[in-house]
Amino acid sequence: MEFISTRGFSDSVGFTQAVAQGLAPDGGLYLPKSFPDLSPNLKKWEDLAYDELCFEFFKLFATDMNPAILKDCVYRAYSGFSASEVAPIVSLSDQWKVLELFHGPTLAFKDFALQLLGNLYEAQIEREGKPLTILGATSGDTGAAAISGLVGKKGVEVFILYPNGKVSPLQERQMTCTGASNVYPIAIEGTFDDAQRTVKEIFADLCFRDEVGLSAVNSINLARILAQSVYYLFAWLRLKPECRTKTTFIVPTGNFGNVFAGWLLTKMGIEISEFRVATNQNDVLHQLFKTGEYALSSVRPSLAPSMDIQVASNFERLLYFILGKNSSRVQEVMTSFRKEGKYCFEKFVSSGFSSCSSSDLEIPELIQQIWDEFDYLVDPHTACAFKDLDPKQASMVLATAHPAKFPSVYEQARMKVPRADELEALLKVEPRNYQVEVDPDSIRSFIKATLSKNRLKL
Ligand SMILES: *Cc1c(COP(=O)(O)O)cnc(C)c1O
Repeated sequence: MEFISTRGFSDSVGFTQAVAQGLAPDGGLYLPKSFPDLSPNLKKWEDLAYDELCFEFFKLFATDMNPAILKDCVYRAYSGFSASEVAPIVSLSDQWKVLELFHGPTLAFKDFALQLLGNLYEAQIEREGKPLTILGATSGDTGAAAISGLVGKKGVEVFILYPNGKVSPLQERQMTCTGASNVYPIAIEGTFDDAQRTVKEIFADLCFRDEVGLSAVNSINLARILAQSVYYLFAWLRLKPECRTKTTFIVPTGNFGNVFAGWLLTKMGIEISEFRVATNQNDVLHQLFKTGEYALSSVRPSLAPSMDIQVASNFERLLYFILGKNSSRVQEVMTSFRKEGKYCFEKFVSSGFSSCSSSDLEIPELIQQIWDEFDYLVDPHTACAFKDLDPKQASMVLATAHPAKFPSVYEQARMKVPRADELEALLKVEPRNYQVEVDPDSIRSFIKATLSKNRLKL
């Protein structure tokens, strides 16, 4: 299977290279060049366990990997999930179901992709004998999940920048209490954007990239998208056949990675009638689906912080299809968007998508309503999915995080504060982080000094 860039100026590559590179050299995002038709497999796949299904699915894409190694990577990725089904489905009513994606080690859906990505990196290091340096910026969940996926892996050093005082205390502990010697959480004085900008500048330094074997774990990596497609397929196969095509998937959305992963299945012979994009008060995507205009403003911090995003980087992947797979049109739109901060689509074809957004006033109300009506507690991100939800419409809500990750929301709403043993355990460990100036030179020197100490041991 070959993978091409949305911008059309990079050569097509195999799966392992697309995973190792993350971003394509022309600045575009990788997509499969052609799509397998899954429909002949569906009957066989109905009864597979989660890891079995994931392996069958990945085999179709990772054709340049040894199947036994791929299988091992996949099976180990989901063995640490606390729910035996990995992604259990809870029925709230005849029509409403919840797909719980928070039973991984860091209690957010990002574990599905990052536990697997960690194993794929490890396999790559073993295959090629070259160590890797992972660098990323996080506003919370991604950093925690990336660190958990890479803790203690041989040949990988992980550097994650986060804004000091601006991630939730529990998210910070998930990064700083691992006790692992290959993990370097760096608290910077500044915002998430400052961290992100510095990381991007360092990635643009091709010499440094080569020298230390730099790789990215942000949500543009194709392996993350494909790993997320699997739980949509898993949930879809568990619906009664007559319900499959009628069920709307409702997805709390920030960077558009999660919902895009589901939509991708519609290119592979899976019929899903609608995806509903649920945003918080940072509602650029909701406005886009409503009006056809994508216009940036500044991020307003919300009660659902992992969706506090203005530039939804994975949107470029949908754009590629909307623009008729025309890479030069994608280039044009992205360039104009970067210059103007907005883009107005004359005819925005968004068939298959609907959207909604929830304000910070509405999020606690929605949490309370779901609790009162169904005795079911949702986290502030998942709460956004219930905005204006039609009781007569068959719906599958993706629950993206465990409520215990966000205790202050429940304290403020005077609700019982949810708990999780995994998080309680973190409170007993001494946190360790590093303070480095948030400029490319300082971060580069810190990385080099650290590597020269650690890589001698390899
Ligand atoms: C990352 C995250 C999201 C947003 O997912 P995208 O793929 O960026 O759209 C939603 N909810 C939670 C809890 C998250 O961690």
